[in-house]
Amino acid sequence: MKIGTPRERVEGEKRVAMTPQSAIALKKLGYDCLIESGAGSAARFSDQAYRDAGVTVVADAAELWAQADVVAKIRPPGQTEVEMGHAGQVVISLLYPGQNTELLEALKTRGLTALAMDMVPRISRAQKMDVLSSMANIAGYRAVIEASNNFGRFFTGQITAAGKLPPAKVLVVGAGVAGLAAIGAAVSLGAITYAFDVRPEVAEQIESMGAEFVFLEFEQTQDSAATGGYAAPSSPEFQAKQLAKFRELAPDVDIVITTALIPGRPAPTLWTKDMVEAMKPGSVIVDLAAERGGNCELTVPDQAIETANGVKIIGYTDFPSRMATQASTLYSTNVRHMMDDLTPAKDGVPVVNMEDDVIRGATVTKDGVITFPPPPPKVQ
Ligand code: NAD
Repeated sequence: MKIGTPRERVEGEKRVAMTPQSAIALKKLGYDCLIESGAGSAARFSDQAYRDAGVTVVADAAELWAQADVVAKIRPPGQTEVEMGHAGQVVISLLYPGQNTELLEALKTRGLTALAMDMVPRISRAQKMDVLSSMANIAGYRAVIEASNNFGRFFTGQITAAGKLPPAKVLVVGAGVAGLAAIGAAVSLGAITYAFDVRPEVAEQIESMGAEFVFLEFEQTQDSAATGGYAAPSSPEFQAKQLAKFRELAPDVDIVITTALIPGRPAPTLWTKDMVEAMKPGSVIVDLAAERGGNCELTVPDQAIETANGVKIIGYTDFPSRMATQASTLYSTNVRHMMDDLTPAKDGVPVVNMEDDVIRGATVTKDGVITFPPPPPKVQ
C-alpha cells in the first residue's frame, strides 16, 4: 500500500512528516512512499532527495490524498484536507481531539481512520512514538536560544582585562521535558540556572543537570503518581506561596522560561504583571505555554512584545518549526515507529489493532465511529 505526506497548509509551518531517511525505513515495512512536491523544501529536503530515496513526488495535495492509503502529516488536517480524504484511508497526525470536536466529526463522516500522534500513551514501550516529548525537547532548547538572542548580554560570567561581567540568572518554571531541555541549554551557556516545579520528584533531575531547585517552605507536596506523572492544579495556599517566591525572585532574574502545563486545562498564570514590572530592563521572558493561554499574564501568543519597563516577552508557538530539519527528522522517526507497530507482518498493510494499548490510545476515529476518548488504562 501507499503512504504519502502532503505539504503542511498552516502558514509558517516548516516541518514535514516524512523525510527521505524515514521513507527508506517505511519502504522496508513494505510501503510505497509518496510526497507532495515541495513538501520538504522549508525543512531543507528537496524533491530530488526524496526521489533519490525512492519516493514518488506527486504534483499536488489532491493527487496525494487520492493515491495514498495512509496520509502522515503534522498539523491537524483542515476542512479542505479532510474533504480530499476517502473512506478507509488512515490519517496519522497531531489532532488534539479533546479540543477539536468538529474535526473528529468530519473525519468520522468521511469514513477516515485517524490516529492522533498527541494521544500516544506515554508509557515506556511507546517512547519511540512520543512526539510530545520529541517536540518539547526542541522547544525547550530553542526557548533558551531565542532568549539569548533577545538578551543583550553574555550568559556566562567573565573576568576580562576590560572588566568583570556577571553571569545571567535564568529561572525555568516547570521541569517536564521542555523545562529540562531548557535547563540543559541554559546551564551549558554558563547561566546560573534555577528551576521550579510542583512535582517535588523532579528536584533530583534539576540538580543533576546543574541547576538549583527552588524549594518552597510548604508541607503539601503533589503526588503526581496519582495523575500519571503529570501535575494537578495546586491548592490556593500552595499557589500563594509559589507566587510569593516568584515575586521575591523577579527583580533578581534576567531570563524566565515558563513551561508549566496541566493536562486538559488552560496554562496556570504564574508570572503576573507586577512580577514583569519588577524585572530589570533588558530581561527576557519566553513563555512556552503561550498556545494554552500563557504562564505569564502579559504574553501575547505568536508575538514578541516589549513592556514599558523594557522587558521582552516572547510568546511564539512555533519553536519546533524554527528548527524544522531536526524537528522533521524526529517527528518522521516517531511516525515511522508508529507505522512499524501498525504493520505487524511488515507487508505494507496497516492493521489498526484496537487490542493494542498504544494503537487504541491513539485511534480517535475508525470505521465511521468516533473512538475518542479511549477507555482508561487497565490497572496492573
Ligand atoms: P507538561 O508539558 O504537561 O508540563 C510541564 C511541566 O509543568 C510539568 O513538569 C509540570 O509538573 C509542570 N507544572 C504544572 N503546573 C505547574 C506550576 N503551577 N508550577 C510549576 N510547574 C508546573 O509535562 P511533560 O513535559 O509532558 O511531562 C510530564 C511528565 O510526563 C513528566 O513526569 C515526564 O517525565 C513524564 N513523561 C513520561 C514519558 C514516558 O514515560 N514515555 C514521556 C514523556 C514525559
